[in-house]
This record gives sequence, structure tokens and C-alpha cells, in this order.
Amino acid sequence: MALIVQKYGGTSVANPERIRNVARRVARYKAMGHQIVVVVSAMSGETNKLITLAKELMAEPDPRELDMIVSTGEQVTIGLTALALIELGIKAKSYTGAQVKILTDDSYTKARILNIDQHNLKADLDAGYVCVVAGFQGVDENGNITTLGRGGSDTTGVALAAALGADECQIYTDVDGVYTTDPRVVPEARRLKSITFEEMLELASQGSKVLQIRSVEFAGKYKVKLRVLSSFEDEGDGTLITFEEEENMEQPIISGIAFNRDEAKITVLGVPDKPGIAYQILGPIADANIDVDMIIQNTGADGTTDFTFTVHKNEMNKALNILRDKVQGHIGAREISGDDKIAKVSVVGVGMRSHVGIASQMFRTLAEEGINIQMISTSEIKIAVVVDEKYLELAVRVLHKAFELEEA
Ligand code: ADP
Ligand code: ASP
Ligand code: MG
Repeated sequence: MALIVQKYGGTSVANPERIRNVARRVARYKAMGHQIVVVVSAMSGETNKLITLAKELMAEPDPRELDMIVSTGEQVTIGLTALALIELGIKAKSYTGAQVKILTDDSYTKARILNIDQHNLKADLDAGYVCVVAGFQGVDENGNITTLGRGGSDTTGVALAAALGADECQIYTDVDGVYTTDPRVVPEARRLKSITFEEMLELASQGSKVLQIRSVEFAGKYKVKLRVLSSFEDEGDGTLITFEEEENMEQPIISGIAFNRDEAKITVLGVPDKPGIAYQILGPIADANIDVDMIIQNTGADGTTDFTFTVHKNEMNKALNILRDKVQGHIGAREISGDDKIAKVSVVGVGMRSHVGIASQMFRTLAEEGINIQMISTSEIKIAVVVDEKYLELAVRVLHKAFELEEA
């Protein structure tokens, strides 16, 4: 007997028939004698609909109320999934995040899980129930409903698996595993049998939405056995996230290409070059809880510095307002501007550690297509570039080909 957490994404619970399908799979696992915790997302499109609704009443919705609204999507699907299971003769019970006591901090819309009380779930599992838990939501110490950021049900799944000491966390979605890149953009993309945890972390952090980054962080921290599978097929091993590089038999130099359309670039021009400038620019941004991704600083011959960084598109205006109101006069910057027509493309692979020339191959490939690189950042296993968003798909396709990632 194993304890398995199965997470089903929005397309997997998009209508009653698909929910029935989920219930049938859960029933099969239950019949094998396993204990099952099911985590579900809202029906696909539902979270977007709820956000749009909120924005009709307030352009920048109050975050506490926004979380109150968007968390309802998952409350519908837990009830429906429990019903589908009960109809099949299986004991099942739905749980909101608050009912489990998924305790988070109070950063509405991007809360972090602090603790999960596993007592209620354990007792019900031992009594033979399938526990159906709402993904994406938690509760802060004052009882306010919080949400974990878009795609956050993955994190609920993995965090529950960690808290319960589950044998495996299975992420069921609308693709049958992790591919060399998003198969919607490159149809020739190839499914990976396994990928190292480190590579998955980079791919997720660079925008591969197949797993939310925090779910991968949890899997790494608590060594959760994590697998991505199709909810539309009964056969197939999906993709296993492995912890040892040697376990990854494929051993390619580049494992995958990620991209992100969600970032915007902010440029602060003509800042007198003095110690403390980076802190004075980014300190107030951090204080406002705005995540910064890439950063570039360049000092010109005239002794002034140009400072460029990227933030989430949703937070560009907030960041610009902070800089213009609180920072520009103070540091004497000539100009502050924002550009949200950018995209980021990243190639990822642990093989980069032992191979030189990957960056030059990447830059040459982009140059041959006339694609201008606006920013570059690297880590030991990643090279990321920012380009004009209109070149994004072209860039991903040519890089996929140049690194020979397509089906062998
Ligand atoms: P769910 O609703 O099940 O959470 P998501 O839409 O969040 O599903 O994630 C699955 C989607 O991720 C796929 O449909 C695919 O378009 C996209 N995706 C992006 N990068 C990859 C990748 N490297 N491998 C597989 N899917 C990817
Ligand atoms: N329903 C939430 C979203 O659309 C969470 C999730 O699907 O993982 O972002
Ligand atoms: Mg998702």
C-alpha cells in the first residue's frame, strides 16, 4: 500500500465528463489498495474569468478580496470531484485549504506555504476516505484566505505530498510529460523520460508552466518523488523528476528551452555612478514585494550608469510609480522607462557545466535570424536572453533545431 498524491490541472477537470474520468482513475488506484489524496485546480478558464470579473469592479483589485474571489474556483471542483467519487461508491471528502489548515504567510495572490496540518487528512485516509483538497489556496494565521500564485495547485500537491510523507506525487495535466520545450510552440518537441530536479527548477523558473516553480522547490527540499503525466491517457510513464544526474540516462548537453512572455523591462538612465545606487533603486522595489529577475548595470564613459531590470508585467506600472515618485529625484536619474513588449528565452542543461561554446552557439543562431538580444543572464546550467516579443516563437524554434532537441 502506498500513499499517493494526484494533482489534476484545470483542463483535466474542465467538465463533468473529465471529472468522472479523474474519479475513475482514482478508483483504480484505490482498488490497488493505495491511499489517495487528490488535489484539483479550478475548471480551466475559471480563474481567469474570476479575475476579469473582479477587475470590472476595481482596476487593481484589493488583494485580500481578489484571493477571496479566485479561491472559489477550486471550491467548485473539489465538491464536484468528491461527488463523482461517491457516485462510484468510493468514500470521499472535499477540503478547502482552510479545512486542511494549509497555513501560509499573508502575501495575498502569491502566498508561501508555512505549514500543513496533516492530522485531519491522515485520520480520514486511515478511515478509508479519498481526500479531495482544493489546490492554489491556503489561509494565513488570522484566517484570511490566500492564494499561492498562478499555477499554484502544483505547489499544493507537492507540499501535501511532503507533509504527508507520500510515496509519490503525480501531476496529471494535458500533456504526457515534460517536453524539450512547450509542444504548443514547437510540435517537434520531444518528451523527456526523466529530467534532473535542478534542470526542472531552471525550466520552471524561466517560464515553463508545466510545473509551478515553488512546487519544484518543495520537491527538492523534501525529496518528493514527482512525476508529470497525462490525465487523458491511462498508459505511459510521463516524466520523472530525478535527483541524481546519473539517473538521467539521456545525458544531453541541453535538456530544454523555456520561455516567458510575462516579464517587462524597466530602464533607469543616467544615474550618477556612486556606491549604493543599486540598493537605492532596488530597495524600494523589494520593499513593495515586487520580484526582480534579470539585472544589468552599465557605466558609460561619461561616468553615469544605466540600470535595467525585469519584473512581472503585472507589476511594471507599480514599479515605475515607485521609482518615479520615490527614487528618481533622490538619485538624480535622467529618465525612467518601461517596456512590456519583451520576452525571455532560456536554454537549460546540466551538460553546460562540462561543455563550452553553448552561449556562442545560442547567440550565433539568434544572429542568423536577425534577432537582437537586449539582455543576457547566465547560471551554471542556463543561458537566458531577452528579445523583442515578436521574435519569441521564432527564437524558440530555431534554438530547438540548433541544439538538436527534436525527435531522434
Ligand atoms: P494544468 O492546468 O494541468 O496545470 P498547465 O497549462 O499549467 O496545465 O501546464 C501544462 C502546459 O504547459 C502544457 O499544455 C504546455 O503547453 C505547457 N508547457 C510549457 N512548457 C512545457 C514543457 N517543457 N513540457 C510540457 N509542457 C509544457
Ligand atoms: N486555478 C489556479 C490558476 O489558474 C491554480 C492552478 O490552476 O494551479 O492559476
Ligand atoms: Mg498548471
